[in-house]
Amino acid sequence: MNRQAFLASSAALVAFPRLARATGGLDVADQAAQHPMRVLLASGVFEMPRSIDAWHFAWGTRTYRGTFSTITLLDGRSGLVNTLPLDAYLAGVLSKEVSPSWPAASQQAQAIVARTYALGKLRPLKPYDVVASEADQRYDGIDGESVEGRSAVEMTGGTIVTFAGTPAHVAYSSCCGGETADSGDVWNTPYPYLRAIVDPHCANSPGYTWQTDVPTAAMQSAFGADYAGIGALRSIELTATSPADRPRAIRFVGESAIFEASPNRFRASLGTSIVRSTFVRAVALAPGGSSVSVSGTGRGHGVGLCQWGARDLGASGASARDIVAFYFPGTDLGHA
Ligand SMILES: [Zn+2]
Repeated sequence: MNRQAFLASSAALVAFPRLARATGGLDVADQAAQHPMRVLLASGVFEMPRSIDAWHFAWGTRTYRGTFSTITLLDGRSGLVNTLPLDAYLAGVLSKEVSPSWPAASQQAQAIVARTYALGKLRPLKPYDVVASEADQRYDGIDGESVEGRSAVEMTGGTIVTFAGTPAHVAYSSCCGGETADSGDVWNTPYPYLRAIVDPHCANSPGYTWQTDVPTAAMQSAFGADYAGIGALRSIELTATSPADRPRAIRFVGESAIFEASPNRFRASLGTSIVRSTFVRAVALAPGGSSVSVSGTGRGHGVGLCQWGARDLGASGASARDIVAFYFPGTDLGHA
């Protein structure tokens, strides 16, 4: 789909004058979308960037659009901030989050969701809006860009996910593992469009299933005082599942007490590269009790858009609008 066709399908989008210079030469279509984003690149001790011209700078081996500044963080450390127009930021995000070889519709859906996410993170009273990692969205400046990623950002210029006429609270992760997670279960913040839905589209993603053995001794340091009182671990199990088959909690049955951790806490405490998703499918105490076997499906928190599922949907002919509607039921596309 070309840009005109996309705009027509997105309805009610208004053309604004082009604004190329402030984006460091990136051709963006929609001035209204060009909120300045302040991206925290580094904190603590860091090498200072070097200006190339008014709208580009070099930092380490990378080149960035926009300007840089140093700030003082709340904890007193220094921070390095890159300030640049929203779509120039998104151009540096897109191909860090999804491959430029993926279907255009999948990349456009990612652009719409990434834009919605970024606008939801604007914090005028704080010294920066987002960090340049998966804690918000991956971003490597121009080095992270691609022709295809820039095209997805441009073709969706100004388009965001809305619910009841206001910007939606969106989230996305690499692979949901077969069912997306309810934001209420993961973050205690339920939204009607961030609920668990069955997703058959990501089953062929690489690393769909995972398994790890976690030393029992690691639980103590991971969960601290909450875990300390349970005594010797007798068994570990998943509690009653939610309607979406995701466990409500991982339950540790000790000789003195029981301790339960939500899947999100379980993953965050043991490490997101060890417990790769919140969709834990099975847990078992090894004979002798020295380790716990944990297995699951997917990668990430599982809430909202599933990137690998969106890839499959795009390859099957779904539009960006179709993909957003699937992962955020009840939402619409609107204009920032
Ligand atoms: Zn999925």
